[in-house]
Amino acid sequence: METKIRIALQKKGRLNEDSMKLFKEAGIKFNVGSGKLVASSPGFPIEVLFLRDDDIPQTVANGVADIGIVGENEMYEKGYDVNVSRKLGFGKCRLSLAIPKAQEYFDLNFFDGKKIATSYPNILKNFFNEQGIKADIHEIAGSVEIAPGIGLAEAIFDIVSSGSTLVANRLKEVEVAMQSEAVLIAKKNMESEKQALLDEIIFRFNAVQTANSNKYVLLNAPNDKVDDIVRILPGMKSPTVLPLADKNWSSIHTVIKEKEFWDVIGKLKDYGAEGILIIPIEKMIL
Ligand code: ATP
Ligand code: MG
Repeated sequence: METKIRIALQKKGRLNEDSMKLFKEAGIKFNVGSGKLVASSPGFPIEVLFLRDDDIPQTVANGVADIGIVGENEMYEKGYDVNVSRKLGFGKCRLSLAIPKAQEYFDLNFFDGKKIATSYPNILKNFFNEQGIKADIHEIAGSVEIAPGIGLAEAIFDIVSSGSTLVANRLKEVEVAMQSEAVLIAKKNMESEKQALLDEIIFRFNAVQTANSNKYVLLNAPNDKVDDIVRILPGMKSPTVLPLADKNWSSIHTVIKEKEFWDVIGKLKDYGAEGILIIPIEKMIL
């Protein structure tokens, strides 16, 4: 029988959509029926288990799934021994301490002897140990942000991304303990056939993510400015220069990082570049 690799993905929530999108862009589609907890793929030997994100680290550590996608926050909190194959660049957030807005705050000593509500007691315990703070950590499963308002705790330690939940609950973020993003995790001691499938998945993820951060750029330039423009364009190798029907003009094509593009656009215009087109790249293999 053909070897299949088994992956644990979040069933629904903030990581589900981006995880599914990444696989789709990597050419791996899942036959997901509504409410189904297991799915397969028509074109790739993979089987998906849809789980709560809390259960993903354990499921991978004990080998029920070979690989999984989960937030670093959840992975470190659970503390299971798994390999991190790759950071994935989505699901970005931070784990922060927050206190009622009206409270004065100078430094971490604020938290000495205080009662703090969190769903991440282990990460907080480690952070306080490193910082020499002794606090009363109170674990709750959800709705952490309302704990100070209802008198359950004097501060919270929770996930923050935009900060709007804190504002809505009249809290302020005072310390960041950890940054987090989604990671592809793998069990230890992977069988070699499954390792080859994991390597193929990582190769495809690399191609998708390199493509997403690069753009194909085309522009027209007067011939006497082509050398100047080529010099400032950071290309994959070297830009392609093609003649236009108008003998005084050329077309320049190259691939550049989107971030770098914004740095050079002003100079391109100064050199007389016209008709600048920026085109998304679907896959890119370096
Ligand atoms: P589940 O039902 O699977 O247990 P959950 O309610 O625990 O889901 P979600 O809110 O879906 O979890 O968040 C899943 C993960 O997404 C978090 O553990 C974190 O890594 C990341 N995350 C959380 N909040 C944000 C946010 N605002 N922006 C980006 N990523 C986030
Ligand atoms: Mg969860």
